[in-house]
Amino acid sequence: MKIAILTSGGDSAGMNAVVRAAVKTGILRGCETWVVREGYEGLVRGNTGDSPPAHKDLPQLADGVDTQFVDNLRFGDGDLLKNGLGDYAGTKGRSLKGRYIVRVGWDDVRYWLAEGGTLIGTARSAAFRTHEGRLSAAHNMIKEGIDALMVCGGDGSLTGADIFRSEWPSLVDELKSLGRVTESQATRHAHLKIVGLVGSIDNDMSMTDLTIGAPTALQRICEAIDNINSTAFSHSRAFVLEVMGRHCGWLALLAGVAGGADFIFIPEKPPKSPWEDEMCAAISHHREVGKRKTIVIIAEGAHDHELNPIRADYVKDVLTERLGLDTRVTTLGHTQRGGRPCAWDRILPTLQGIEAIEALLEATPETPSYMIGVQENSITRVPLMEAVATTKAVSTAIEAKDFATAMSLRDPEFCESLDGFFATSVLSNEKVLPPAKRMNIAIMHMGAPAGGMNAATRAATRYCLQQGHTPIAIYNGFRGLLDDNIEELTWLGVDSWMSRGGSELGTNRMLPDTDIGAIATKFQKFNFQGIMLIGGFEAFSALLLLEEGRKHYPSFNIPMVHLPATISNNVPVTEYSLGSDTSLNALVDACDAIKQSASASRNRVFVVETQGGKCGYIATMGALACGASLVYTPEVGVSLDTLRRDVRFMKARYNLDAKGKSEGRIVIKNEASSNVYTTDVMTKMFKEEGGQLFDSRSAQLGHTLQGGVPSPIDRARAVRLSLKCMTFMEREWAKIQSSGQSSPRASPESAAVITIQSGSIKWVPVRDMVQHADMKNRRPLNPWWMNVKEMVESLAGRPQLVKLH
Ligand code: ATP
Repeated sequence: MKIAILTSGGDSAGMNAVVRAAVKTGILRGCETWVVREGYEGLVRGNTGDSPPAHKDLPQLADGVDTQFVDNLRFGDGDLLKNGLGDYAGTKGRSLKGRYIVRVGWDDVRYWLAEGGTLIGTARSAAFRTHEGRLSAAHNMIKEGIDALMVCGGDGSLTGADIFRSEWPSLVDELKSLGRVTESQATRHAHLKIVGLVGSIDNDMSMTDLTIGAPTALQRICEAIDNINSTAFSHSRAFVLEVMGRHCGWLALLAGVAGGADFIFIPEKPPKSPWEDEMCAAISHHREVGKRKTIVIIAEGAHDHELNPIRADYVKDVLTERLGLDTRVTTLGHTQRGGRPCAWDRILPTLQGIEAIEALLEATPETPSYMIGVQENSITRVPLMEAVATTKAVSTAIEAKDFATAMSLRDPEFCESLDGFFATSVLSNEKVLPPAKRMNIAIMHMGAPAGGMNAATRAATRYCLQQGHTPIAIYNGFRGLLDDNIEELTWLGVDSWMSRGGSELGTNRMLPDTDIGAIATKFQKFNFQGIMLIGGFEAFSALLLLEEGRKHYPSFNIPMVHLPATISNNVPVTEYSLGSDTSLNALVDACDAIKQSASASRNRVFVVETQGGKCGYIATMGALACGASLVYTPEVGVSLDTLRRDVRFMKARYNLDAKGKSEGRIVIKNEASSNVYTTDVMTKMFKEEGGQLFDSRSAQLGHTLQGGVPSPIDRARAVRLSLKCMTFMEREWAKIQSSGQSSPRASPESAAVITIQSGSIKWVPVRDMVQHADMKNRRPLNPWWMNVKEMVESLAGRPQLVKLH
């Protein structure tokens, strides 16, 4: 199959990762891979003149190397695309002038993973909206023999794709009757296979959790908010920030949650009129309790109930005139689009690009065109037109002022985030619960610090205060509890915790069995009626001990929850722990810099060692996110046979690099993948074996992987999960209280871990977690990401260069 890939509409970070993954997977699956420059405009313009001969420059092949794979290594156009030299004829006479549909090979997309925007260009094509334009596009595709089209763009681009496919048979008939294609061409191209991927920073597409580019845009916004926060604090100013989002408030909402904003305006849920009163009341209340800074976030498409636009300048005037605040406006504009993709905008587009190729290979004239989406970590295929129609229904509902419908069409996470925003930003004197239902809720951090621990504590604190509960911080884990190191948390005291890395409460690895009796006494002394443990495997083990301790110690008969937070992501059952996203981003940042250095030296292999204990999550997903060539994990281990094969692979790969253009390559190794073949041994081995072909160095990322500032995804997830923990404890406490016994016993279900499984949040009693845990190695038994190692190595071409035996 000949597959062409194009990017269309507004650019977004991660589009290059889609193209890279699709090109590589296409080649691995025996297809010819092409890219279309400048979106649909390139299809309409097509190619004029003959294509120049392929620029291959390939050496003699070693034995056992897949020759078809090598044939597809390069066509010499990758550099032209990457360096923006498309139409420029100065580089050794090579140019893409007059050629918009271009064959690309494996090495043409090297280094694309870390590039922002789209290297193949995008455009808004008026011509493609016309019949003539689409006829020309069909003709150009048939001339080049293209069978299938992969489109990465927003809802407009995907609508265009669907129209193109449905019109295709009639376009082919028309071309045939005009004599522009032959009978046999018409027969061969009777049907067009199409697949869509959503590239949009707004996260505005229905039926998928995340669009490609949205996480990076959110990251850019949160970086800006974090920077503004410090100056706003210094001058005690108010800032009004306008962010992108014409019909979708996702960026504004998530930035509001993750940035700890005071007020937000989103198109789907306009504030009650007169909103000026509501906003001023909220903000002046925050100021009265001592807040020195104010952040208001406005989506560019924000409006009131009557659809009158709400403009940043007007909000500024209101804050200045009514509240006397020194207010500034910051419009983030296109900075939100730009820059290097964050880890998740490399991982998801890669997985989606792979799936898109599979969808095309399986497509028949009868199957619908699919859009590749994502539900948490599962890549999904949904009917393209249904997704586009549902997306359009949101805008229609907004235009009809039917905001309830608009909200109902957003996914549950959107609505939960909005609840989360209100719970963590609104300060109210009214308590939601009557005194009898109020609780003393203790919060403790355990194990190593992880991004999002503080954000989760802030969310819990503010929720507690809104409900009428007392949030109690236990400093320094169980050691601190034994020392009576506890304190009531306050609304203002946790205000800046959203963006803080590390652990504000202090954390260590001491487990309660050190002196469980004394700990039970402290539970009783401080009258804890619920406890949330935020941490990794230690927190899980601690909860297990506390639950077992209920037999002997009545003070443990309270709701107890574990909120997983660990960069290793090694808590069983749950697919994500807080901190793992921050850590992946830290790894990607480090590896981008290392790869640059390795590439500048032309032929250097870097062995990068990661933390993670005996769990290979960070190493594996990090390898996918930074395009590593090999990855070593404790789950799979390392043997002499593996190493021998890997050295052969590296040699074969360096042999095939273009003359003078050897790539810097990365090998990621988890710290505990082998006791014998350590990072040092491996580095020396690669150096020795590389000879004249390649050199080797090592880098240990160590504690840098705990990340500085938590990622927006970790912060937003922390809020969502922490609030769920709070409502869980309220529910379980009500059950315990309603038992009517003088010393009530808590059910096993009331000591539970909050988990994310296949896209939904599920509570698992801590007792039941044990059967899914490898307690000795402190990791899950069957983690969902195990097949990713194979994917990493396939995308490096190892199976094609060195056979497994
Ligand atoms: P963004 O979310 O960044 O706006 P988008 O894909 O929605 O991205 P649009 O400008 O709506 O951006 O569409 C991009 C291109 O898709 C258009 O310039 C046009 O070439 C094509 N397109 C959009 N809608 C149609 C349509 N109804 N028929 C044919 N082509 C279309």
